[in-house]
Amino acid sequence: MSNNSVKKLLEERARLLAELGTLSRLLRGSWVERYSVCSRSDCKCRRGERHGPRHYLVVNEGGHQRQKYVQNSRAQAAQEGLAEYRRLQVIVARITCINLALMKEDDYATL
Ligand SMILES: [Zn+2]
Repeated sequence: MSNNSVKKLLEERARLLAELGTLSRLLRGSWVERYSVCSRSDCKCRRGERHGPRHYLVVNEGGHQRQKYVQNSRAQAAQEGLAEYRRLQVIVARITCINLALMKEDDYATL
């Protein structure tokens, strides 16, 4: 690889690593919206107008799936956190490609 190509990859990697530091609100999980029926027999929810949506994040804690209730006022922040995690995965995949390319260089240990 030319010195210029190596330089470009190093610059791209540096930008991506800096961006990683901005993903402070990331959340790893999946998003669930649920509508429910309450215990009042005369409630409108018994006629099809169910309550909700209530939002949950399904997260993995020590190998177990847990559903975490998310207040409506935090729903947008939670969805942004999920988007940050998706961005994290894209960045990790790209840095892996860059590092694999750089590994072909003789001086990889110093790059
Ligand atoms: Zn109800």
